[in-house]
This record gives sequence, C-alpha cells and structure tokens, in this order.
Amino acid sequence: MQNKKGLVLVYTGNGKGKTTASLGLALRAVGHGEKVYIIQFMKGNEKYGEVQAVRRYLPNVELVQKGLDAFIKKGQPSLQDIKMAEEGLSLAKKVISSGKYDLVILDELNVAVDYGLLTEEDILDAIALKPGYTTLVLTGRYASEKILEKADMISEVREIKHHYARGIPAQQGIEY
Ligand code: ATP
Ligand code: MG
Repeated sequence: MQNKKGLVLVYTGNGKGKTTASLGLALRAVGHGEKVYIIQFMKGNEKYGEVQAVRRYLPNVELVQKGLDAFIKKGQPSLQDIKMAEEGLSLAKKVISSGKYDLVILDELNVAVDYGLLTEEDILDAIALKPGYTTLVLTGRYASEKILEKADMISEVREIKHHYARGIPAQQGIEY
C-alpha cells in the first residue's frame, strides 16, 4: 500500500447519494483487501443498513458513530453534540496518522463544520496528518471553501427531484 497515491475526495451538494457514494468506495477498497475506517459524524443509530452490513460481513471495515440519535438544530447544538463531534475528530486524527488504513471516510464531516460543531481549521489539521498512501473521503452538504481547496476531487450531488417532496418517508434499504 505504500506506493499508492492517496487522495482527498469530497462528496457534497444537496442531492441524495453522498454517504452511499463513500460506502461504494469502501466496498471497492475491501474487495482489494484494503483496510477501511469509517467515522460517521452526527449519527448515532445502528439501524442503518451499512452499519449492519459492516458488523456482519466486512471484518476489514471499522465503523464508529460519533453523534447522538437526535436531530441537531442549526445554531443550537447541545454540549453533548459538540463533545461527540470533538471525540470524532480526535479519533479521526488518530486513525489517519496511524498509517494503518488505506481509506478513511469521515461521513457528514462537512455538515459538522457547517453546524459549528467543529471548525474548518480542525479539518485542515486532520487532513495534514494523512500519510501519502491513505485516501480520505469527506462527505456532507455545504463543504467549506478551504476544504474544497484541499481536495483532489470534488463531486457535487445536485438534487433534481427527491421522492421526499411527494411525501414518501425514509425507506429501509434506500435511506437507511
Ligand atoms: P445517502 O445517505 O442516501 O447517500 P446523502 O448522504 O447524500 O444520502 P444527506 O444529505 O446526508 O444525504 O441526507 C441524509 C438523508 O436525507 C438521506 O436519508 C437522504 O435520503 C435524505 N435526503 C438527501 N437528499 C435529500 C433531499 N434533497 N430531500 C429530502 N431528503 C433528502
Ligand atoms: Mg449523508
């Protein structure tokens, strides 16, 4: 893995498919025997299909949630929300700098910054720890300017249409 070119990949935008794109990369990487670490910010619920799949079938993937299972009001995060995000950031820094992982996914990290749980500088510090061969994936709406500058690849998922607007609630296997 030492001769690999690790990248910084960002999935942002208001459409559906950012988290699932990152999970697709995780699947692709484990298919090659690579080691993957996923930290989900602002999520704290094991019901997600990806969490179940990782626990049952993917021993080369570690997945940790660092959030509460509750909606955070923008501008009014609780102390606990901030604490969880800070724990997630410290874990991310440890995982990235360990050099043990080919792919590190920080899911919803952009949203954690947008909601003021973490700062742009926190994220830049974490990116700076990345060994050359590790690929880092950051997902979430509203990726900040400096993070976009650091990225090697940015995909913006833009909503054209979403079934939610027609009153169709979150579906198992599609939304979670
Ligand atoms: P997914 O996890 O399905 O890949 P995502 O990571 O792109 O989606 P987020 O912005 O993280 O989406 O939003 C989380 C949840 O909100 C998902 O369950 C998703 O289906 C839903 N969602 C995403 N985009 C929209 C939208 N434009 N309108 C309504 N709900 C949405
Ligand atoms: Mg998401």
